[in-house]
Amino acid sequence: MSDCIFCGIVDSSIPSTTVYEDDECLAFEDLNPQAPVHVLVIPKRHVIALSDVQESDRNLLGQVMLACSRVAQQKGLPEHGYRVVTNIGKEAGQTVFHLHFHVLGGRRLTWPPG
Ligand code: 5GP
Ligand code: ZN
Repeated sequence: MSDCIFCGIVDSSIPSTTVYEDDECLAFEDLNPQAPVHVLVIPKRHVIALSDVQESDRNLLGQVMLACSRVAQQKGLPEHGYRVVTNIGKEAGQTVFHLHFHVLGGRRLTWPPG
């Protein structure tokens, strides 16, 4: 059994609330939301972080980005704006080492991020 939380969510051994799913991607509600809308979009296949992707992941990455856009649309975020962010490595705040994109919206988002 994998010790990756997000692989556990993909195989349903860890419960989550699905927002969107296709053959390659899964999107689910963040357990500890930082905004009124906070969804995580992941490739179903275990990829550690954006720093680990290869040329062969080109299509997968395109599909994950499209999934982020669809999730935002589904949540009604485009009208007021939203943010898609991925943390890479401990110093940037990555705590789960399975590639994920945070889709955040529903409130004013400040810049620069902390
Ligand atoms: P990171 O800090 O790696 O960029 O983001 C990890 C995110 O995963 C955090 O926002 C955290 O709240 C979320 N998270 C951690 N464990 C779980 C879990 O078991 N279920 C869900 N739905 N989200 C989780
Ligand atoms: Zn994983």
